[in-house]
Amino acid sequence: MDILPFTRPAIDEETIAAVADVLRSGWLTTGPKCRELEAALSQRAGGRPVRLVSSATAALEFALRIADIGPGDEVITTSLSWVATSNVILAVGATPVFIDIDPATRLIDLTLVDAAVSARTRAIIPVDLAGFPVDRDALYALAAKHKLRVIEDAAQSQGSLWNGRELGSFGDLTALSFHPNKNMTTGEGGCLVMNSEEEASRFEKLRLQGVSRLPDGTYDCDVLGGKANLTDIAAAIGLGQIKRLDAFNARRRELARLYFPLLAGLPLDLPPADFVNSNWHMFQVLLPPSLAGQRAEVIRLMREAGFALGIHYPAIHLTTLYRQQALVAALPHTESVASRILTLPLFPAMADADVGRVASALRQVLRDLGAEVA
Ligand SMILES: *Cc1c(COP(=O)(O)O)cnc(C)c1O
Repeated sequence: MDILPFTRPAIDEETIAAVADVLRSGWLTTGPKCRELEAALSQRAGGRPVRLVSSATAALEFALRIADIGPGDEVITTSLSWVATSNVILAVGATPVFIDIDPATRLIDLTLVDAAVSARTRAIIPVDLAGFPVDRDALYALAAKHKLRVIEDAAQSQGSLWNGRELGSFGDLTALSFHPNKNMTTGEGGCLVMNSEEEASRFEKLRLQGVSRLPDGTYDCDVLGGKANLTDIAAAIGLGQIKRLDAFNARRRELARLYFPLLAGLPLDLPPADFVNSNWHMFQVLLPPSLAGQRAEVIRLMREAGFALGIHYPAIHLTTLYRQQALVAALPHTESVASRILTLPLFPAMADADVGRVASALRQVLRDLGAEVA
């Protein structure tokens, strides 16, 4: 039986042909296709400098480094995210400080920032989970008040809006991911939107061995850089995707809208019904507390019915590494939501009827597990 996945990339024949052209061109690594994609991303970001790397993880880590954040510094973030969000904080030698989420939005609760700021706090990394933007007005007011850098983990929110403006077109540093599960992909890849060409040139060094070319054809190496440049093969995929990003997001919104009436009457917490700002990277529901212990069974039964569900994410602060290395206040909402969250299938190529099939199967599974279903 075919399983409907929770997401699937949409690659067209034109993109496949463009990748073949790169393969035939004789130039596979970083080159003209990367520059073209950086220009297209910069255009969406209101002309701000954008540089590509091999992952959003690298973009986030280099963002911390160009903000000069390192040992002894604290960075405030959310524990309800992919572990990359906080791994990069540890990678630069700084300390992650997790604060709780707002259970209604599932995003970092910005009203808790004041109490979490210490003399060592240097930055905040908000995460637009599922594509719902963290309140940028409140975020940048707090950043100004406490003199913090903001490194936006917008790995899931390509094309999401705040006050009518696309994320990345304003603010401090913004990282996007082009992993195959995201709303647009390069196979693997990511980028950082920055404030100045000076930051961009520091970033360029960090992504490729810390070297800068000299006029005499040699180079200098004055900082320890990594190896995180993107290939032109990947950029050719991204150029095919960025043209379709708005259409992808519109289709995701349409499908998300269909879920709401079909899931009404089920004992689930639904996501915020935001059809303006969110790019609907994921459609996530919360099981009732009474079924939290049976989440694996819900996933198993849904799979038997032909549907793959995801868990995004287990709470980071409960993993072994972070029990040892993070500063963690009580995070009751994060723990509750993380134990009950499920990602339902949502991707542009899904048919309207698929939404109905997912909803009916979920209704049946919840009923079979003894939940009250209207
Ligand atoms: C996917 C993701 C990342 C990491 O992106 P990569 O490109 O895989 O490194 C970081 N943060 C969040 C919230 C993500 O969803």
